[in-house]
Amino acid sequence: MDQPVLPRILPRPEHPISRKDIDPDALKILYRLYHHGFTAYLVGGCVRDLFLGKTPKDFDLATDAHPRQIRDLFRNSRLIGRRFRLAHVYFPGGKYIEVSTFRRRSEFDAEAPEPPPHSENTFGTPGEDAFRRDITINGIFYNIADFSLVDYVGGLEDLRRGIIRCIGDPDEKFLQDPVRMIRVIRHAARTGFSVEENTYRSLLTHVERLRLCSPARVRDEFLRELREGTARESIQSMLETGMLFVLFPSLAGPLQDGKRREYFLGSLEALDRLRLSEDPVSDDFYLALFLLPFLEFFCPPEEFPGGRKGQADFQLKVREWLIPTLGPFLFTRYSREAAAQLLANQRIFREFAPAGKLPWHWVRKPDFSRALRLFQLEAGVRGEESSPFSWPAADEKFSPRKRKRRFRKKRKRENRGNPAVVESPPGDPDS
Ligand code: ATP
Ligand code: MG
Repeated sequence: MDQPVLPRILPRPEHPISRKDIDPDALKILYRLYHHGFTAYLVGGCVRDLFLGKTPKDFDLATDAHPRQIRDLFRNSRLIGRRFRLAHVYFPGGKYIEVSTFRRRSEFDAEAPEPPPHSENTFGTPGEDAFRRDITINGIFYNIADFSLVDYVGGLEDLRRGIIRCIGDPDEKFLQDPVRMIRVIRHAARTGFSVEENTYRSLLTHVERLRLCSPARVRDEFLRELREGTARESIQSMLETGMLFVLFPSLAGPLQDGKRREYFLGSLEALDRLRLSEDPVSDDFYLALFLLPFLEFFCPPEEFPGGRKGQADFQLKVREWLIPTLGPFLFTRYSREAAAQLLANQRIFREFAPAGKLPWHWVRKPDFSRALRLFQLEAGVRGEESSPFSWPAADEKFSPRKRKRRFRKKRKRENRGNPAVVESPPGDPDS
């Protein structure tokens, strides 16, 4: 392997990562490994995020201890993975920290030979472990022995200069695992860094290969693009590189229209704002918001009559659209159905917007508030009035019809005792 033998070491006084910012449970594991004579590093995204002053999502560890040695050291651990065994060390509240042994190859490499279970030959040196990773800024280690940073791949320089670069030869990296191309785009959008020239050129050459990847992995990485809060930038890069049309070929037609393209990018900004809101949403909601700008194109609402029958047919049409659109990525049936329902329900708002009033049976449906949230987000993107409707307050228990019936019953009961009392029901439109 053409790797430099010695890494660049950045001593503690020359970098900003403090133990105060490291998860205390991760520190405990690092220290225990170290005190038992093992090398113990913090690795991957957490080192990158700490360096950039961000809060890491999780803390991953790597060590030269073998999986069984890790398990022997931590009674609260379990070995997982058939192909590449690694340990999860558990803590109260369902929390766990992943500890892996330095290894030679990425589990995602297409040509990684299937090692026999419990094989020792998957393990490698720290240098090899750094080189198996995707981009340089994800390949820096934090060494608990002296709190220094250990960089085999030029990640520190790229962090300083704001560059996303494949580790090693980008052609090889992308051919081995095309999903890395989505990761390059996501990390560039998240950090605001620019993609290095060779990496970018190689991405343009190989982008079509994403079609050959495991659909579940593509789906997971794509959903991360939507959830991270930088979907606008990510999808913009996906448009520029053609990646979006490799993943969703049917969107190429409607996106030729400049206005729709603008509206699409606007709705992605709304999607990014969702992440900052206090009320989190689920994947089907993200998918519905992502696809909403294309609803009218694929399912023109004017082709369906009003009323419940028209709505049922419309919903069917939306479902038929989503099956080939989301189907190839093996989105769960639940996510697909829920997204279809959310999208189809938007037509109800459009139908009743001119009247300014929504049918009571719709307002009471359990999915009404989610559909309304989507409608309001979209209205915001279009620059329209987001609440053109009036409907009974949420705490009003009964529909107007039920209220009337209850009042009549009450009046009958009272009239039995005193036939002279006749009153109108509260809010009775007939009175
Ligand atoms: P995030 O903050 O979103 O979790 P991350 O960089 O930590 O970003 P993970 O998916 O958690 O991403 O992966 C952890 C680490 O594993 C990465 O930093 C990278 O070093 C390595 N990695 C992940 N996916 C790949 C891949 N497809 N090929 C090579 N290395 C990978
Ligand atoms: Mg991570």
